[in-house]
Amino acid sequence: MKQTLYLVIPCYNEEEVLQETAKRLLEKISFMMEKDQITRESKIMFVNDGSKDKTWNIIEELHSKNNIFSGVNLSRNKGHQNALVAGLMTAKDYADMTISLDADLQDDIEVIDKFVEEYYNGSDIVYGVRSSRKTDSFFKKTTALAFYKLMNGLGVDVMYNHADYRLMSKRALEGLSEFKEVNLFLRGIVPLIGYKYSVVEYERHERFAGESKYPLSKMLAFAWDGITSFSIKPIRIITGLGFFIFAVSFVALIYSVVVNLRGNTVTGWTSLTVSIWMIGGIQLLSLGVIGEYVGKIYNETKKRPRYIIADKLIEQVKKDN
Ligand code: UDP
Ligand code: MG
Repeated sequence: MKQTLYLVIPCYNEEEVLQETAKRLLEKISFMMEKDQITRESKIMFVNDGSKDKTWNIIEELHSKNNIFSGVNLSRNKGHQNALVAGLMTAKDYADMTISLDADLQDDIEVIDKFVEEYYNGSDIVYGVRSSRKTDSFFKKTTALAFYKLMNGLGVDVMYNHADYRLMSKRALEGLSEFKEVNLFLRGIVPLIGYKYSVVEYERHERFAGESKYPLSKMLAFAWDGITSFSIKPIRIITGLGFFIFAVSFVALIYSVVVNLRGNTVTGWTSLTVSIWMIGGIQLLSLGVIGEYVGKIYNETKKRPRYIIADKLIEQVKKDN
């Protein structure tokens, strides 16, 4: 039986690309409807992430002309990940499956059929994985690789060369909604949901208009969030360092005593050296242990809302679970 698909597209200052994106997605989705791959209730849902330009006006206009276009308007800019979750959590009440993609259509939309096929074959999550990074700059390529390596080294399970182009079934989305953390790093969380998954490869294109909304500063913040909300290893490293220095302090202790017994030291040197090492070691060790607890508390306490929805443009009744 065919099912309902929602495309979820976070948009931040995308007035330059939105019309064209809407046109291309409409073609694609109409084609899939005609082929009976998806129901006619399927939608293209834009999430306006507090854009400062005409993005929301364009979404409203698209919706008024054709209600296959729906919209969610966030109260302010909350960043790509939160905008995406806002869209997915809204779509989950109406759709059987969602596909998230960027407004600039850098992710090849021709593989949407393959995603849906995999879904019908029983996958709850389908990851879009880039087959090459030809269009990325050398800088972006190397930093992306370094980031994946680092994440894996820190024990976070992420899919290599997968961004946020993925299909999720309704029950995978329900699983996602159970993750209440504020520091959201979807690429790390989605594998934790479980269920059967599959991978579809695609080529990534250049942005066809406008500029990247991910400057270096946002990219770094994103990477840092990814690490600190998934791993307390950095804190463990401090603890380890503490242990190490504490151990070294014993060597320093023996050395200082030996030098002292041989009588070639100034008065007070021995006690000073030993205390510097010992106290330094103990301090670092304690800091690490405290940090471990602070890290735990930090992960649990911040129960702030991830986004606030200001307006919704969807003309469809919610599905029962
Ligand atoms: N985006 C967003 N909020 C932000 C920044 C970006 O919703 O604060 C959206 C943006 O509109 C686009 C997607 O996230 O649909 C990816 O952004 P972009 O294409 O600029 O990133 P890049 O492809 O350069 O990594
Ligand atoms: Mg892009």
